[in-house]
Order: sequence, then structure tokens, then C-alpha cells
Amino acid sequence: MKAAVFRGIRDVPVEMIAVPTLGDHDVLIEVSHCGICGSDLHFIVHWPGAGKPGTVEGHEFSGRIVAIGSNVTKVAVGDLVVGGPSERCGSCEYCRASRPSLCTERGRVGADDGDWMGAFAQYKMLSERQVLKIPQTLELKHAALVEPMAVALHAITRAGGADPAKRYLITGGGPIGFLSVAALIAVGVGDVVVSEPHAARRALCERLGARVVDPATLPKPTMPHDIVADPFDVVLECSGQRAAMESGLAQLKRGGLMVFVGAGIHPPKIDPNRVLLNELTITGAFVYDHDGFERALELLASGRVPVHELVEAADVALGGLVDACVALNDGLLAAKVMVTPNGAL
Ligand SMILES: [Zn+2]
Ligand SMILES: [Zn+2]
Repeated sequence: MKAAVFRGIRDVPVEMIAVPTLGDHDVLIEVSHCGICGSDLHFIVHWPGAGKPGTVEGHEFSGRIVAIGSNVTKVAVGDLVVGGPSERCGSCEYCRASRPSLCTERGRVGADDGDWMGAFAQYKMLSERQVLKIPQTLELKHAALVEPMAVALHAITRAGGADPAKRYLITGGGPIGFLSVAALIAVGVGDVVVSEPHAARRALCERLGARVVDPATLPKPTMPHDIVADPFDVVLECSGQRAAMESGLAQLKRGGLMVFVGAGIHPPKIDPNRVLLNELTITGAFVYDHDGFERALELLASGRVPVHELVEAADVALGGLVDACVALNDGLLAAKVMVTPNGAL
């Protein structure tokens, strides 16, 4: 099969590799769409040494089952599916408390092991336990948004759930940022502001119903007890940028809460006096709620989010992956870019 094989920074040629061999409980998925994630950008564009040569990226995919192992019972050939969350142990204290994002075995079970191969390829193998069927009303292209939407829903959970009485600031209007906007607006939150430097992303967030600001215009209070005019109850920090983390904290009202959602390289400088005087809460969100993929699929299929706005109209062939990553990195493409390894199914 054809796959976009990582060889180095901006070097991801299309090569022929073996179609995976199925175990008894595995299924083979003909990939329809696979979204380009911020983590793929890190490997492909940013961080020399982060990607492992010979691997295939891509974890936000949908497709059709074309073969099944001899003991598969949950799904059948022909089913349209998405890849679900990576495996969790199911028995540690966090899994038992329905917080699989904190599973003590994460990174050691299932999909995270070293020979993991992604879906920037014509076929992707998964255990039947890890696939979810796509609701009938949802197109394959939009179903491929399930993973980043599950990330956005988890960020909202970590912020205490969507509350129409609260004011939300989202720093960073990339996919997790704009999917958070779409999810908040869909459940009736009216006051969502996005701070984002790129004009194309600001325009997208506006179309989704947010107000938008340039981060440079956010107020900078000088004293730790000073609260800005029109402060926010919740900040979802989706950019991973140090300046946005520092500025986001300063936009909170007393008792406000900030969630770190975007992973960053440069640690922010945080004034503990601002946190204690105003009794702020800073927390993090990693991956998904225990039922995050099911809820994300349901939301995407509900008609309450404008799914066509959330994806770039033009799909990208395997050979166009690097160029698309560079365009995304330069802020030229605002919505989620979908790679179609088999052409449109
Ligand atoms: Zn992702
Ligand atoms: Zn666990």
C-alpha cells in the first residue's frame, strides 16, 4: 500500500509498504480521511529529532472496514468507522474513576507502543475494541474530526462543563480552539471570545459565532490584584504559546479558571500573587473524557455544529502532506486539513 513515510523534517515521501497482517481481533480499515494534527506539524515541520524515521503519522481518521480477523464480532466488513481512543488499562485507580486520561499505564498499552503506524496510508489496522461506528447522518470527512473534537470536549469538561452563564476566552484559534468554540456555541454558550494572531483563523472563529481579538490588544494589568475590564470566568489555553499562557491568566476574573490544553515548549512566567490574591485555578486537560469519542461523534452528527466550516474544502493527497503542513504552520489554512490516501471514497 501507499503511505507517507516520515524520513526527516519536511521529508515525508510516498512509499510502498506492506499492508498490515491482521490478528484474530483486528480489523483493516481503508482510510477515507485523515486530519492533520498539531502534533503531526511538530514532527513534520518543527522539531528535528521528534519524529522517528520510517514511521507513518496520522491518528484522526475515518474509513471503511475491508477485512476482519477470524474472531471479530463487534463490526463487519463494510462498516464505516473511526479510530477510537488509545487503549487504557481499565483497572488502575483513574480508569476505575472514569478518568482514563490519567491511566497509569498510558503509553504502555496498545496503540502507543513503538511499532504504531498511523493513517497517512491507504490502510490502517486496529483492534476491534478500538473502532467506533459512524452515525449514519455523518459524512466520513466530518467523522474524521472526532479525535480533536473529543480533545475540545475534554478541555470543556476540565473547565467545569459548558455554562451559558459564563464568559469564555480561548487563546489560540487552531483546530482545538475552533472546535471548542463550535462545541460551546452548540450548547448555548453565548459569550465566547477567541484571541488569535492569524486573520484566516480569526475569520473562521467569527463564522462559528465567537468574538475575536488580536492577542496584542489584550490588556496587561500591572499589579497582581488588578482585574481587567470585562474579565473572563474561563480561559481555555489552546495555543501552547508562552505569551498566551501569561496573558490568558491576566484576563481572568476573581475565582476564574484557566485550562492548559495546548502543549508548549517554553514555560510561562506566572505570578503566584495573582493566583492567590484572586483565588485562580490553573489546571490541565490531556486527551479525552471516558465517553469523549461517543459524545464527539454525537455532536458532529447532531446538526448543531457547522461541520462544513470545520474542514478545508480541498482535500490533500498523500504526496501533498508536507506542503499542507507548511501552509498550516504559516497560518494560511484555518480549518482542519484532511488527507485522502485513497482519493475520495
Ligand atoms: Zn490530533
Ligand atoms: Zn488505567
